[in-house]
Amino acid sequence: MPQSAERILDHAPLFREPEYQEMFARKKATLDCGVGDAAIAEQGEHTKSWEYREKNLAREALVVNPAKACQPLGAVFAAAGFEKTLSFVHGSQGCVAYYRSHLSRHFKEPCSAVSSSMTEDAAVFGGLTNMVDGLANAYSLYGPKMIAVSTTCMAEVIGDDLHSFIQTAKDKDSVPREFDVPFAHTPAFVGSHVDGYDVMIKGVLENFWKGAERKPNGKINIIPGFDGFCVGNNRELKRLLDVMGVDYTLLSDASDQFDTPSDGQFRMFDGGTKIDDVKAALDAKATISLQYWNTRKTLDYANSLGHETASFHYPIGVRATDELLMKISELSGKAIPESLRLERGRLIDAMADSQSWLHGKKYAIYGDPDFVSAMARFVMETGGEPIHCLATNGTKHWEEELAPVLAASPFGKDAKIWAGKDLWHLRSLLFTEPVDMVIGNSYGKYLERDTGTPLLRLTFPIFDRHHHHRFPLWGYQGGLRVLTTILDKVFDKLDADTIAPGKTDYSYDLTR
Ligand code: SF4
Repeated sequence: MPQSAERILDHAPLFREPEYQEMFARKKATLDCGVGDAAIAEQGEHTKSWEYREKNLAREALVVNPAKACQPLGAVFAAAGFEKTLSFVHGSQGCVAYYRSHLSRHFKEPCSAVSSSMTEDAAVFGGLTNMVDGLANAYSLYGPKMIAVSTTCMAEVIGDDLHSFIQTAKDKDSVPREFDVPFAHTPAFVGSHVDGYDVMIKGVLENFWKGAERKPNGKINIIPGFDGFCVGNNRELKRLLDVMGVDYTLLSDASDQFDTPSDGQFRMFDGGTKIDDVKAALDAKATISLQYWNTRKTLDYANSLGHETASFHYPIGVRATDELLMKISELSGKAIPESLRLERGRLIDAMADSQSWLHGKKYAIYGDPDFVSAMARFVMETGGEPIHCLATNGTKHWEEELAPVLAASPFGKDAKIWAGKDLWHLRSLLFTEPVDMVIGNSYGKYLERDTGTPLLRLTFPIFDRHHHHRFPLWGYQGGLRVLTTILDKVFDKLDADTIAPGKTDYSYDLTR
């Protein structure tokens, strides 16, 4: 046996042992259906061609590796940003296990969410009983201050009505009548996690703001949006706002919930926007969103109540941070302090120091629409060229908004925007129009392996690297981090390409 109690092997070396190699060979012979390696290699080469790319891009009835998740995942993330709030997803258990594991694998933290555990009978007769029992159990077992309800495909297909179900559950004393149970319908077969985030934030605000009297004050509400880097980004955002002396409320702040300390105490709930602060946020002068495509309905709602609204696209880099800080300064009447001007200057200095290594570098960028827009702008600030900008959950409107931004820069003239396309499309694009780097998430590692294009993991989800989310991407400090990440990849690649002694090491330099 290749391993025993005395010699336990990790799976990586274990699967190289002869027993496993033989098993893999037998399996491959079965799966190949006898066509042979040459035919498979030939077909593989065909998938790299322009001819295949055109067929692939014409594909309509099939999605392969979409760079998005379903709506309820966004709703669960949004709910995690409020004080002692438990996500309750009305639908099947497996879906909720997926949201929990997806968020846990990224943040390396437990993620608490419960489901109403609908099965076949509920699918036929409706899930009212599951809601009534589920809310009662969730309330008494976990002691939350608020339960935020969203839905899976199953509940939406059969048309369960959350408003009436929650009322009925309260009538049956599942939870006290005055207990807060905001809800959002999150049909997973349309939209994506960013839409689920939007409707859940709106649902929470409606729960507290509907019918309440507004007495406007000078505060500003800030909605961060769905963000796998919330731990680092929200803390950096709060630092910037505190340095400016701005009176603000972050609406949904999951930075502590997904970064609890190891000190011997399990915290099912930690941090988050206080319920009282959510109520008081109705009186704010303005509500701004840091990710427009995550918050369209919420912004419309805030605007309908008299809030000034403004939105941004994931503030990475110099100009995006400038725009955010200037807007906050305008709304709050607080000046941008000298210390932040110095931070800005330091980022520009660092970009100038490294400019020769980044000028003309070509990128493929994929992820959520706000992230892709932000990264495209940032790489253009460094002299890079965003060649492929892809968002599976991007819309025609996103395309129309991003196109003039790219066209306005000489570095964006060759850029193409791919809304609604997936990572199998991106594979074709990378083979036919290669770039120097791909910016995306852990799923991009298969593109890296197939096409040989170095991958930068800068957006959710990141499963195969640890702790990246603890450091910010936003603001001038975040810009420095993104810059360093890109440069490290450039230098690592150059070192790897020039490492052969006496052959290519003429450029294996100590100083870059
Ligand atoms: S797409 Fe539907 S079935 Fe799949 S995880 Fe989302 S809610 Fe569940």
